[in-house]
Amino acid sequence: MSDLIGKTVLITGASRGIGASAAQEFAHAGANVVLLARSGGAIGDLAQEIGASALAIPCDVSRYADIEAAMKAAVAKFESLDVVINNAGVIEPISALATSDPAAWGQAIDINLKGVYYGMRAAMPMMQAAGGGTIITISSGAAHNALEGWSHYCSSKAGAAMLTMCAHKEGAGTGIRAIGLSPGTVATEMQREIKASGINPVSAMEWEDHISPEWVAKALIWMCSADSDGYLGQEISLRDDDIRERLGLA
Ligand code: NAP
Repeated sequence: MSDLIGKTVLITGASRGIGASAAQEFAHAGANVVLLARSGGAIGDLAQEIGASALAIPCDVSRYADIEAAMKAAVAKFESLDVVINNAGVIEPISALATSDPAAWGQAIDINLKGVYYGMRAAMPMMQAAGGGTIITISSGAAHNALEGWSHYCSSKAGAAMLTMCAHKEGAGTGIRAIGLSPGTVATEMQREIKASGINPVSAMEWEDHISPEWVAKALIWMCSADSDGYLGQEISLRDDDIRERLGLA
């Protein structure tokens, strides 16, 4: 699908769920993978499992210095930064807006929105200097639909979707491929937290209704190929039957 052999792919939130699955899929496709998350033990174990083509860097995406240092370390080790996947995200604190905790609400914005901005801010100059690169940001249906108890999450994802459009507008002319992926609902720890909250229709879904993280990983691989260029600056939805068919996901 795409020639990822020897390319360097940095994935935030790689300690579990979609990010961990993406790390395995990209490594399988021949890429060097740089795994970022706060849980150093989990990304260290995954990197060891993958082998010499993986590098684990403990990182809190809500801290710009962490992200910038991680990207520099990625280039120092693998000599390029070709793909960044802004995947790290949180659903907590799930709470009604009127009774939400202002500091905790802001922390979700720091991770889900500012973390994406930090990823773009740090990657774009490096990629532009090297002739280009791909920046994929994991979006959500919540970027475009209000859901009870998720004011922090919906707002952060809406902002992150706009950042993809901004990065495309400013970066397309210098080789930046900015693109979003709305995966639908995926069977990960995040959906367990959503289920436990019982607060909105998503929490009422059955586990079998969620897709596997491997499907999302396959979509991410495809998004690194020119075949997906028609979607640059926009979002791809994995709920879209045409996309599923194109990717061979049934
Ligand atoms: P998950 O299993 O809960 O994984 C979230 C990942 O984000 C973990 O690796 C976590 O690692 C990392 N993370 C959280 N805060 C971080 C921080 N401050 N710095 C660095 N890493 C951080 O959830 P998931 O379902 O795989 O979610 C991945 C992305 O998909 C998120 O952006 C989420 O919003 C999006 N998404 C998920 C669904 C779904 O149904 N699951 C649907 C739409 C969109 P540490 O805790 O170790 O830091």
